[in-house]
Amino acid sequence: MITNNLGRSGLKVSRFSIGSWVTYGGQVDDSVATACIHAALDAGVNFIDNAEAYAQGAAEVTVGKVIKGMRRESLVVSSKVFWGGDGPNDTGLNRKHVVEACHGALRRLQLDYLDLYFCHRHDPTTPVDEVVRTMNTLIQQGKILYWGTSEWTAPQLQEAFDCAERLGLEGPTMEQPQYNMLHRARVEDELGPLIDKYGLGTTIWSPLASGLLTGKYDDGVPEDSRLAHMEWLQEFVFGETKDSKIAKVRALADVAGDLGCTRAQLALAWCAKNPQVSTVLTGASRVEQVHENMKALDVLEKLDDGVMQRIEGILA
Ligand code: NDP
Repeated sequence: MITNNLGRSGLKVSRFSIGSWVTYGGQVDDSVATACIHAALDAGVNFIDNAEAYAQGAAEVTVGKVIKGMRRESLVVSSKVFWGGDGPNDTGLNRKHVVEACHGALRRLQLDYLDLYFCHRHDPTTPVDEVVRTMNTLIQQGKILYWGTSEWTAPQLQEAFDCAERLGLEGPTMEQPQYNMLHRARVEDELGPLIDKYGLGTTIWSPLASGLLTGKYDDGVPEDSRLAHMEWLQEFVFGETKDSKIAKVRALADVAGDLGCTRAQLALAWCAKNPQVSTVLTGASRVEQVHENMKALDVLEKLDDGVMQRIEGILA
């Protein structure tokens, strides 16, 4: 597995990584989660992504059991803070919640420190200097190593960088945005200049658009798929342009066929090809998907200019 620096930091993250959202601690049982995580690590993945919100903490409990006793130095483990519960201070980015959520994640994951700690969303009710100071305090206490954001807009990130500079503190090291063949603008247009200017790392999510890019939804929603388990997500994934999205996904089958790979591998390799992407966060509900997805690394070298233009023609 090739590694990238996480933005301008010295931390090395595997080109492909694995996340626990939706699947672990809920959709699949712990034996499947264990097999998936082991398969990913065996393929050279070093980064496992988590959040306090995933299965209300149960995903972190599962991941904690799986990685217990593993060599800590070989793992990059994250958590994210924002949605912790219903109380007024169980949510958002106020100092109390950010600190308590960090302690909760460490307890559930059975770790002494988190490598990466993300603000899962922007919180307009907490001043940015409170967030920057709190994250820096956690770094100084050795509870987290790097802090970052998820789905923050460019102006929100700029405010955080300006604040950190003013205070002489560390700004965000990484952002976690959605990025895939069907959802590109936030990374390519909006965040692009900031990624270059500040050396912001990116740990991108839903590279398969929740599975849509694999072709599994070409002819409807299979019973054993994510969108069958989570009907509310169909609106988010398909949106108003469902037919056009599915037409594009179908057309990508020819490109994948010519390269001798699956559409999942093509879509994952396409994300990893973007030099502004530090790591592609994959998700899997069964171990066969991990095996298939990790082979996307072999497809990366086949994505020459001609292939990229062909893909561009389909996505345009
Ligand atoms: P994907 O878009 O890659 O979707 C993964 C899902 O697609 C799997 O759970 C599986 O669902 C299906 N799938 C995966 N591989 C295959 C395959 N080869 N063939 C067929 N189906 C396949 O990524 P996620 O949406 O899961 O996001 C990845 C990670 O990103 C999450 O685990 C989480 O850590 C992070 N994330 C962060 C967010 C944020 O706001 N910061 C938001 C969302 C995710 P099934 O088999 O059930 O159909």
